[in-house]
Amino acid sequence: MLIHEMTMTEFAEKRVTVSTGILPLGSLEEHGPHLPLGLDAMHAYALAQATALVHPCLVAPPLFYGLCRSSAQHAGTVGISGDSLRAVVYDIGLGLWRQGIHCLCLLTGHAGGTHQSSLVEAGERLLETTGLEVAVVCVLDLLDDARQLIECKGDSHAGEVETSLALHLWPELVKGGAPRAFPTFPRFRLVRDKLSHWPSGVWGDPGPASAEKGRKILEIEVKALVAVLAGLEEQARAGATPGPSV
Ligand SMILES: [Zn+2]
Repeated sequence: MLIHEMTMTEFAEKRVTVSTGILPLGSLEEHGPHLPLGLDAMHAYALAQATALVHPCLVAPPLFYGLCRSSAQHAGTVGISGDSLRAVVYDIGLGLWRQGIHCLCLLTGHAGGTHQSSLVEAGERLLETTGLEVAVVCVLDLLDDARQLIECKGDSHAGEVETSLALHLWPELVKGGAPRAFPTFPRFRLVRDKLSHWPSGVWGDPGPASAEKGRKILEIEVKALVAVLAGLEEQARAGATPGPSV
């Protein structure tokens, strides 16, 4: 159930029985020379839609902008600050709560650590100020059961996982391949010239990617996300979350 495609009447009827929502999040960010810039939000949105087919939930329109640090200087990356991300995610969460959502999953396709920290901060603020149950989930954290399937260790960006998903979901948007690569950022020191430490924009190995692998990865992600939503709903029932109090 996609919120932006529902009418006022449909939404009012649906929220009587369904009070779980997913907010898909991503980034507008380089994904190597072969994948589309919007892949992270597209991935989270596709996963949310596939999940809604097997577990009743309302899917909010995705946010295509996130906090991008390592890829900030690559062509096509347009990031927003942590302040903006926290503010917009909090505002959307508050709005969904006021509209009858009791369980909210912030589902991010962008795995940047600083980006995820901002989502956790926004989620914590929602816990403090509303009765929402909140989960912050990065798509990479749903892949525990895909370890056998994924050949490249440490694959995280524009590599085996994302290329496989893109080959499965949007084959027309995959422009060839890219060589295996990992960045060389120093462990502690922050760097100004990020491009010289990560010229290719690939973090992993697109080589072993396939559409069939993408299909299986999506299936595994859906199963894991359903478990997260069920956990949120169990917590909401246990806590007997009251109506909007803000
Ligand atoms: Zn990505």
